[in-house]
Amino acid sequence: MIASYKYRAYPNDVVELRLNNALDTCRWLYNKLLEECNTSRGNGISPTMQNLQARIVTLKKENPRLNEVYSKTLQMVNYTLWSNIRALSQMKKRGRKIGKLRFKSTFRYRTINYNQSGFKIDREHGTVTFSKIGTIPFDMYRPYSGTVKGVLITRSRDKWYVVIQTEQKVLTSKRDGRSVGIDVGLTSFAIDSDGVVIENPRFYEHSLKKIRKLHRSVSRKQKFSQNWKKAECKLSKVYEHVTNQKKDFLHKLSRYYVDTYATVCIEDLDIKRLKEKGNSTGLHRSIHDASWGRFYSYLMYKAESAGTNIIKVDPRNTSQMCSNCGSIVKKTLSDRIHECPYCGFIADRDYNAAVNIHRVGMEQPFEPVEVIPLHHRNVMQVLLMKQEAPPERRGVVHYTEVIRSS
Ligand SMILES: [Zn+2]
Repeated sequence: MIASYKYRAYPNDVVELRLNNALDTCRWLYNKLLEECNTSRGNGISPTMQNLQARIVTLKKENPRLNEVYSKTLQMVNYTLWSNIRALSQMKKRGRKIGKLRFKSTFRYRTINYNQSGFKIDREHGTVTFSKIGTIPFDMYRPYSGTVKGVLITRSRDKWYVVIQTEQKVLTSKRDGRSVGIDVGLTSFAIDSDGVVIENPRFYEHSLKKIRKLHRSVSRKQKFSQNWKKAECKLSKVYEHVTNQKKDFLHKLSRYYVDTYATVCIEDLDIKRLKEKGNSTGLHRSIHDASWGRFYSYLMYKAESAGTNIIKVDPRNTSQMCSNCGSIVKKTLSDRIHECPYCGFIADRDYNAAVNIHRVGMEQPFEPVEVIPLHHRNVMQVLLMKQEAPPERRGVVHYTEVIRSS
C-alpha cells in the first residue's frame, strides 16, 4: 500500500524560479501530448503510451526547455496524461456523460513528479534535493515510514509542499473477525468454507447466439467497406458488453468477501497452474483460469485498502485430503463427492477443498467438520450485492435475462 506524507516546503528564490519554470515546461508537454493524441485520434490512429513516450525524445529538439527538466519527470507527465485518459474512458463506460480531456491552464497544473529516482532526502536536516532543481528545506513535523517510492513537489497558490510517497508493508490483518477459505472450480465459480456456492456466470454462452450471428454478418461483407465496419463495430460492442458483465460480477463478488471477512484464504493460482499443467487444458479451462486470476487480483487489491488479510495456500492436496481427518482420498476431476473411507465424512468435493484451504491458511489443526447445507448464490444475487458504482439501468435488465435463461 502506498502512503503519502505532505510537508510544507520552503524553496529559496532561485529554486522557486526553477520550480515554476519546470512546472510550466511540464504543463506545456502535457498539453502538447494531449493535442497530438487528439490529432492522431482524429486521423483514425489510436496512439499508445509508448508512442508518446518516444515522442518526448524528439520534442526535446523542438523545445530545448524540456532538457532543463529531469527526464523521468517528463515521463511521468505522459504517465499522468494516460492515467487521466484511462479514468475518463472508464467513467464513459459506466455511462457518465463527460466530454474530452481538458488542456491544463497554469492554475490547474501544479505538481512535479519525481518517481523512483532524481531525488535525495536528508532526514536529519529535513531537506530534499531534486535533480535539475536544487535543495529544498521542508518541515518534517512528523516522520514518515516505509520505503520511499517517489517525491512530488506541488504548488498551492504561493505555498509549496513536498509529498513523500512510501510503500507500506501490510504484515498483519488490521481487523479482527471471521475468516474463510475459497475454492474456485469448474462446476461452480467458487465455493467457500461457510458453504456458499457461487454459480458460474455464463455471460459469454448467453451471448453466443448473437455473437455467431454477427460473425456471419461480418464475414458476408466486403472487407473494409462501410457495412463491414458497421458490423465489426456491432460485434466488438457485444464482446465489450460481455467483458463488462464479467468484470462487474467479479468486482461485486470480491467486494463481498473483502467486506465480510477479516481474512480470506485462497489457493496460490501460480502453483495450481503449474501442477495441473497438461492435465486439463483447452479453451474452456483457460477461460476459467483467466477469470479466477482476475477474481484473485480484484480480491487482493480491494483487501489492501479494506485491511483484509489474504492468505495464499499451496493447492497441493486441498481437494484430495479429507478435511475431517486428514487422510488422502484420491479422486479424479469427475468425482464430485468426497467420501472418506477412513472417517466416514461425506461432503461436496469443492466444499471439502474450501474447508482444507481455510484450515491450511489459518494453520488450524484437524477438527470435526460441521456438515452444513450449501447455500447457492446465483449470478443475479451476486450482481445485486453491494454496488461500487451506480448501475446502468439497461445493464441490470440484461442480467435478469441472463438468469432466466439459465
Ligand atoms: Zn476422513
